[in-house]
Amino acid sequence: MAVYRGKYILHGLKEISPEMERDLDAAYDICMSYKEGFPCEMCGRCCCQPNIVMLPGEVDRVAHAAGVPLHKFVTEYLNRTRDGRLLLKKTNPCAFLGKDRKCRIWKDRPEICDDFPYAVSMFMSRVYIALTDDDADIVEMTDYMDDSWPCTKVIRVSIADKVRKARQSKHLTSDASR
Ligand code: SF4
Ligand code: SF4
Repeated sequence: MAVYRGKYILHGLKEISPEMERDLDAAYDICMSYKEGFPCEMCGRCCCQPNIVMLPGEVDRVAHAAGVPLHKFVTEYLNRTRDGRLLLKKTNPCAFLGKDRKCRIWKDRPEICDDFPYAVSMFMSRVYIALTDDDADIVEMTDYMDDSWPCTKVIRVSIADKVRKARQSKHLTSDASR
């Protein structure tokens, strides 16, 4: 199974071709363009979602921040999926969301929490598909995003333009190399 940037799992692929990597890089750039000036209002709504994935390299850090001994954290807070990923056990909201709706381990929260919603694989994979298929409608593909959330609203109103520009640039580059 191929993994892009250490966190995006490409099921069914053994390796990433150079052409695919170029498109993945372009999709990643679009996703990360939302990081600057990101309108997170710390409303805690994303902390009520299931499937908080943890990377193996961050278990120690998060357990420490939560003040839970490592072996207890692994057995009481984590589940391992069939394909080997680690997920925070499903609770609604997340076990680390305080009563004030603020994350109690904010500085050390899992990377996926920092990535939400602009760099999580659900969005990244759709942007990638939109860059590789001119007929793909990115607005339709992202209709799972809630327009009433400040962060996802910003993405929904601007993603079509970003994909259009990236497609143009890709076509110009491939025309020039012919
Ligand atoms: S739902 Fe969006 S705005 Fe609210 S805390 Fe999560 S990332 Fe921030
Ligand atoms: S770890 Fe913090 S930011 Fe991540 S889902 Fe839990 S409360 Fe929210």
